[in-house]
Amino acid sequence: SDADANSATEPNTLRTPIVAVLGHVDHGKTTLLDKIRGSAVSEGEAGAITQHIGATAVPLETVSEMAGSLVDPDDFDLPGLLFIDTPGHHSFTTLRSRGGALADIAIVVVDVNDGFQPQTIEALDILRRTGTPFVVAANKIDTTPGWNPQEGSPIQKTYDAQSQNASQRLDSNLYEIIGNLSDEGFSADLYWRVQNFQKNVGVVPISAITSEGIPDLLAVLMGLSQRYMKEQMEIDVSGPGAGTVLEVKDERGFGTTLDVVLYDGTVSEDDTIVVGGMDGPIVTDVRALLQPRPNAEIRTEKRFDKVESVTAASGIKIAAPDLELAMAGAPIRVVRDRNLDEVIAEVEAELAEIEVDTEEEG
Ligand code: GDP
Repeated sequence: SDADANSATEPNTLRTPIVAVLGHVDHGKTTLLDKIRGSAVSEGEAGAITQHIGATAVPLETVSEMAGSLVDPDDFDLPGLLFIDTPGHHSFTTLRSRGGALADIAIVVVDVNDGFQPQTIEALDILRRTGTPFVVAANKIDTTPGWNPQEGSPIQKTYDAQSQNASQRLDSNLYEIIGNLSDEGFSADLYWRVQNFQKNVGVVPISAITSEGIPDLLAVLMGLSQRYMKEQMEIDVSGPGAGTVLEVKDERGFGTTLDVVLYDGTVSEDDTIVVGGMDGPIVTDVRALLQPRPNAEIRTEKRFDKVESVTAASGIKIAAPDLELAMAGAPIRVVRDRNLDEVIAEVEAELAEIEVDTEEEG
């Protein structure tokens, strides 16, 4: 048919890479995410950010404004970065997509003074197992004794402003982290020395408080995604949506809803969806697609805006009947023109995998 011919020639669109933040408790995951959200907001104009359900989208222009000369938007055709809001590897392990990790790329946050801790090693184990590329953010460089903070500066500029004593102290902490990575089987180096990010892990010194090094971190994430993940980011935007359930929540006026990260295709109002549930796949119809309302006051009734459809990658709240037994971490699929039984079988197969994983982890 004509429709088929069109979709066959329609070029695929590149979606936003999904970024997760992992690391030991108190090493600065939440502060880093808040800083990225906050400074993106204060950059104002260009594209700012969009607050999604469970995620924050930072468009390429905003990444470039935050990263200054380190990110020239003309060098990239990926649309930006989508940060999953819930940090920590507990959420990461349960968030899968078609058997792999939901996140395309990860940031492992390590406190430069505290160094490797049990949850740092756990995070690396998970990333190794899922084959997820990552960078290490060596955080809290501003706590180095004698540090002379350079608010928002790229790391080289910050180094230039430090006493020899302070930079040497930082360097010795950074090399300790590089050594620890090597003990875990990852060949690593300071990111500006890394030639091939597929072979070597880049370590980016940052402060989530003073924003030093955050331009570099964003530049490395964009560069890595553009260089090594472009093919993986090619999606058929008009295809039936595929996503992962982050949370199952009751919302006044909507009943049970799903917070979902969509990583492929589109979901629209009235679409039939199949969702993983405690008693097996649930087949239902989308009643409403909800986005957080910008600047909504806490006490106002209307915390959400309805949208007609959403395209990957994005975070969205889905209201539909019969979601009471839906599970966090479960797959969600739009049926559209596909065979319902096939989609159910697909969801069933993924559910079985999740159960095996949970058993393995005890
Ligand atoms: P999480 O448990 O990994 O999410 O860690 P948090 O983001 O909650 O940070 C733990 C503590 O470290 C908080 O008191 C933060 O203010 C502090 N912190 C985080 N990043 C930095 C940093 O870059 N510099 C300094 N000085 N403190 C930081």
